[in-house]
Amino acid sequence: MTSVPVALESRPDRVPEGSAAADVVATPVAELRRFVDAATDADVDRALQRGHRTLHDFAALLSAPAAVRLEELARTAQRITRARFGATVRLFSPLYLSNECVSTCTYCGFSAGNDIARRTLTVDEVRREAAELHQRGFRHILLVAGEHARIVSKSYLGECVAAVAPRFAQVSVEVQVWDADTYRRLVAEGCDGVVIYQEVYDEQTYAEVHLKGKKRNYAWRLSAPDRAAEAGMRRLGVGALLGLHPDWRSEAISVAAHASALMRRWWRCEVSVALPRLRPAAGGYQPRDPLDDASFVQLLCALRIALPDVGVTLSTREPAQLRDGLVPLGITSMSAGSHTEPGGYAEVSDSEPQFEISDTRSPAEVAAALRAAGLEPVWKDWQRV
Ligand code: SF4
Repeated sequence: MTSVPVALESRPDRVPEGSAAADVVATPVAELRRFVDAATDADVDRALQRGHRTLHDFAALLSAPAAVRLEELARTAQRITRARFGATVRLFSPLYLSNECVSTCTYCGFSAGNDIARRTLTVDEVRREAAELHQRGFRHILLVAGEHARIVSKSYLGECVAAVAPRFAQVSVEVQVWDADTYRRLVAEGCDGVVIYQEVYDEQTYAEVHLKGKKRNYAWRLSAPDRAAEAGMRRLGVGALLGLHPDWRSEAISVAAHASALMRRWWRCEVSVALPRLRPAAGGYQPRDPLDDASFVQLLCALRIALPDVGVTLSTREPAQLRDGLVPLGITSMSAGSHTEPGGYAEVSDSEPQFEISDTRSPAEVAAALRAAGLEPVWKDWQRV
């Protein structure tokens, strides 16, 4: 099917018709959530056996009857992952450009109210950091920055992308959300992917944790992946921060609905999902509703089974041992040796990190662990021509 170009800029507080965001808004999350509670063993059987699975099947896989069949879910997830993605895991590294931010988000170390050491890398410093990551083996890079439209401006981002693109096969950005024209400009400089977590899909919670700044506009953020795809971005990453909303299952349903809608509407794009569990951050933030390990495993397996073609990214927020255990179940991409503060790769940086990482192994150690598990670490999987 052909996706309809969306003109959101004229009404930024509403999702545009014909967009994946509109599909998310139309998803009967409450009804699906009730189905999670009502699901029986027979519903789980059906979800596991079907060829093409629906959001109702996903809901069944999140249920209590599915939780007691975790080993069966894990085996199915692993089989699907091998069939669709082979025994490979793509490695990438975040490169933090700036921790300046004018938004206030209760869970983030970069939040405007936090008294932290702020820093924005110069384009030369970005080049040096990128050279160090290149030297460590990375060819996929994710440029990350807080929301500060003056300091982390469109032009600055364009220059940073242009500075690293010649060395890296994939350049993605995880920065404030922009209009389609800005995304087009970044594509022209060599950027080919965006990562845009909605953070939390429940609108009331979204309003409670995003206290100040442009990020308060829920609809503008929700429809940003549509604008990026319209502008020519090839890879779209979405996700939710687990721990912000007390009910992880309803958040999981929304994330799956979003990924599924993006794959349907923007079928030429590669869509991936990340579900980071929140970690303590500067400003004293402690996750309110941490998700336990068994539920996290169930969620990842359910996601893999229900959406066999979606990429699943695992961050260094998770501890090494758990990451090693999760990877075979459906992970297709992971970060390694990450720093979450600007600078830090080429030299020691005294700026504040966004959050504490948990897996502190070097990229080489992570690659060795993958090989030991019979998986191939992929440092580069395509080349722009
Ligand atoms: S989550 Fe993003 S917008 Fe919010 S405070 Fe952190 S860097 Fe700023």
